[in-house]
Amino acid sequence: MSSSGSLLVTGGAGYIGSHTVRHLLSMHERIIVLDNLVFGHVEALPLDRVTFVRGDMSDAALIDSLFAQHKIEAVLHFAAFAFVGESVTDPLKYYRNNLAAPLTLLDTMQKHGCKMFIFSSTCATYGDPQFMPMSEDHPQQPVNPYGASKWMLERVLRDCGTAWGLQCVFLRYFNASGCDLDGEIGEDHTPETHLIPRILMAITGEIEAITVFGSDYPTPDGTCIRDYIHVNDLASAHAQALDYLRKGGETTAVNLGTGRGFSVKEIIQTAEAVTGKTVPVQYGPRRAGDPSELICNPARAKSVLGWEAQFKDPRSHIESAWKWMTGPRKGRYSA
Ligand code: UDP
Repeated sequence: MSSSGSLLVTGGAGYIGSHTVRHLLSMHERIIVLDNLVFGHVEALPLDRVTFVRGDMSDAALIDSLFAQHKIEAVLHFAAFAFVGESVTDPLKYYRNNLAAPLTLLDTMQKHGCKMFIFSSTCATYGDPQFMPMSEDHPQQPVNPYGASKWMLERVLRDCGTAWGLQCVFLRYFNASGCDLDGEIGEDHTPETHLIPRILMAITGEIEAITVFGSDYPTPDGTCIRDYIHVNDLASAHAQALDYLRKGGETTAVNLGTGRGFSVKEIIQTAEAVTGKTVPVQYGPRRAGDPSELICNPARAKSVLGWEAQFKDPRSHIESAWKWMTGPRKGRYSA
């Protein structure tokens, strides 16, 4: 359902943001992307179909001018730093960018009476799992500054709701993966730390081997289990969340995952089956802060948003990521 207003998408040139922009354009939404291009790629955007503004959400004058020029109906907020390890060594960077910077954006939203906000939150707000699969009422005790910065912003947003009627959907992503099916846009992080792209980089020879972080976890094959959610499923969830808010929905939190878990070894085997190539593997120690298992309970997403993952088999994630890696851009927007 599109409407007369525009959508402001912060971080819309990033991985999940750009896939969501594509999806929203297919639904005839009017979109303004705000991205400082620190991690985003302008090449990921169809510049003839979106208004692109290069800048920071902490730039009060810029944000105010955007709200003055356009009738902005809702904000979809993706812009954030997301390296867990870095957040431990440089917490202020994370609190500044993920928590403090959006406050300027929120100030401006309040001033201009914009009251709908869709927030890229994360299962990292839960901390160490206390039960599995994890539902939204799982205690939120984040164990690193990245998760804490997202959790704190959830709290800020709730308080804005009480004070001036802001309504939000906190979308708590599990493990985002895969790429758009036509291979035109995809995942391009520097550094790339995520499992699926690194496995594919090991196949293409961009890295020597994939290091499996720990094989002594209390799981059937000893490697960590995660719930991999396709980026296009995340994109459609944002559209459903927007629909929910437009229909008068109140602030709520929703997990986004498939409800199924796969081990690191299973993902490697699937990558071998998809590509027909052998993955060079080496085994290393556990990575600090990795719980053995993270699986989403996605029931609420279905009951509240009417959303359900379409790409439940990680094969489809790897196929699309492989298409991006072996396509014209070879998995990179610029050389
Ligand atoms: N992983 C791994 N080797 C890598 C990257 C990741 O064994 O080079 C494992 C990691 O320990 C975790 C899973 O793969 O169990 C997914 O990690 P990723 O970094 O993709 O996502 P995260 O769970 O950190 O959001």
